[in-house]
Amino acid sequence: MATIYLNNKILLMKTFLFLLFTTSLLYAQEKMKPEETEVWEPEPVVVTPGDYGTPPSDAIVLFDGTDFSNWQHEHTQEPVQWTLNSDQSMTVKPGSGSIDTIEEHGSIQLHLEWKTPEVVKGAGQLRGNSGVFFQRRYEVQVLDSYNNRTYSNGQASAVYKQYIPLVNATQPPGIWQSYDIIFIEPKYDSVGKQIEAGSLTVFLNGILVHNNVEILGTTNYTGLPQNKKDDVGDCCSSKNKRRSLMLQDHGDLVSFRNIWIRKL
Ligand code: MG
Repeated sequence: MATIYLNNKILLMKTFLFLLFTTSLLYAQEKMKPEETEVWEPEPVVVTPGDYGTPPSDAIVLFDGTDFSNWQHEHTQEPVQWTLNSDQSMTVKPGSGSIDTIEEHGSIQLHLEWKTPEVVKGAGQLRGNSGVFFQRRYEVQVLDSYNNRTYSNGQASAVYKQYIPLVNATQPPGIWQSYDIIFIEPKYDSVGKQIEAGSLTVFLNGILVHNNVEILGTTNYTGLPQNKKDDVGDCCSSKNKRRSLMLQDHGDLVSFRNIWIRKL
């Protein structure tokens, strides 16, 4: 009997303490001033936005239609053979090879515009194929995917053979399209073992098609993704270990313009 009485007393005490605690929390919350939850530092740096798609004030412009000074042949590092057009764009010169930036990059925000040929030729992967490769390893596919069925993880805006885009937001061939992409690079330890996966968030024509997906490794045409520090996709058969931004020559007359990045 005495034990039951004691237990009840403890329970009563606990309830009382709990009520006291929650009431005092609520009271403290009510007593807080709005200023107490304001954070003033650091103050974000002022950046002047561009008009839609044009580079903001802190962007690194990689291609504005003037020349190929930021680019080179991806294997030989020789000058780019692609066509420089009068409308401030460039077009793949089929067979001349993929091109990559002279500068390497880490985590970036990328803006880029692309267009597949108005004259439709080929089908599936052979229609308007190119690609944007982050650090020469991770491809976001460029393809004419307007009424052109192919494997879903290889259509336009797919993270090639890793992620199917959430929707098919492509425009018809001959129309300029935009990519806005956030690439977070994978991290490695001192012996080249990956300790943190990278990620991609991709907007195609302003529409979200990948929301912070984890990069599984190199985006290979054949075989599974590889994740060692010096692996390159089988697009890049050279032993070049550079981590630059690459645009693919897949044999089609795909055009690009207005390419800029912001370091993250
Ligand atoms: Mg491709």
